[in-house]
Amino acid sequence: MSGQSGNPAGGADNASTAALLAGALADDGALSPSALLTLLSADPADSGTLFAAADLVREHNLGDEVHLRGIIEFSNCCVKNCRYCGLRRDNRRLVRYRLGPDEILTAAREAAALGIKTIVLQSGEDPYYSADMLAGLIYRLKEELDVAVTLSLGDRPREDYRLMRRAGADRYLLKHETADPALFAALRPGTTLTDRLRHLYWLRELGYEVGSGNMVGLPGQTLNTLVEDILLLRELGVEMAGIGPFIPHPDTPLTGCPAGSLELTLKVLAVTRLVLPRAHLPATTALGSIHPDGRRRGLLCGADVIMPNVTPLLYRSRYQIYPGKVGLSATPSEAVAAARSLIQSLGRRVGRGYGGVSRRNPEKNKKREE
Ligand code: SAH
Ligand code: SF4
Repeated sequence: MSGQSGNPAGGADNASTAALLAGALADDGALSPSALLTLLSADPADSGTLFAAADLVREHNLGDEVHLRGIIEFSNCCVKNCRYCGLRRDNRRLVRYRLGPDEILTAAREAAALGIKTIVLQSGEDPYYSADMLAGLIYRLKEELDVAVTLSLGDRPREDYRLMRRAGADRYLLKHETADPALFAALRPGTTLTDRLRHLYWLRELGYEVGSGNMVGLPGQTLNTLVEDILLLRELGVEMAGIGPFIPHPDTPLTGCPAGSLELTLKVLAVTRLVLPRAHLPATTALGSIHPDGRRRGLLCGADVIMPNVTPLLYRSRYQIYPGKVGLSATPSEAVAAARSLIQSLGRRVGRGYGGVSRRNPEKNKKREE
């Protein structure tokens, strides 16, 4: 890798940060846990060096393309009761909705017509949608549209994952949320980190490209927890990692807790880029929601993905995982245009391919299964 000419920190870089970064750049992500902790502890003067290094690693490994993933939030019904999330079962103030398969297909068609090459189907954990129903939808979507399909539906039985994969789903996002088992169990009542990881291994076995990730700034989380989060992502060998700030929702038990900060989230993103040089990392919507410049800053700290919201406007405001979400009133076409102009303003290019590790069609999926 060539010199660090993009270093905005100028002469302010601290020797230990610079030395660690030089080691990481030379050795493709091989940073020790204590080195990760030092990088996450970098003060604002040094974090510029870290961000510039992450940007270089992104450019060296993935080039200038930023991939657009159009997200359709098709149901806000959820059987889980995560203490951080506005969709939690006990939030009686939320007006619930479900889109039918035809409505989802219509939204996907609109996104594909806007040039989107990956459709992300996301929802609360909603057993109303049976595996057969979802598999049928995925099959139709893949038959009709030239897109990769990513699912983000939470925990489901292995057999459901298998059927959806066989129908043509390419990728699955299941964030581990926090690598601290006690914090995980406290924040996600009735579930364990071990069980979440079991689901992630199933997805891997079934041939999905796997995404995980965590929130930054959860109450009770420390910098050491964040080191564990990054090490877990490395151990899982994820193809994608979603890293965003925790944002307290007023109708959850965590109301009143402070939100994760922009600065720390960017540091976690940047260090993750050093550790996973080729993973796809979104500049998350949550990052854009805590700061007007959040997504742009994310793209300059290692991110290579943006996820424009292509959910029909009618339902948009009801998918309130956290408050203050950006883009609630932008039509799909406006959301995609805004993402394109952000990418271009940075001198980068909109990804033209599927932006995955590889693309597999349903026939090939079947063969992998048997
Ligand atoms: N139900 C699925 C997918 C929808 S939730 C699941 O839980 O996997 C998608 C993501 O929203 C979660 O992975 C979590 O990281 C994030 N999220 C939930 N509540 C949040 C909050 N208050 N602030 C920031 N992100 C939150
Ligand atoms: Fe449901 Fe996902 Fe929210 Fe948990 S994070 S309450 S599983 S939508």
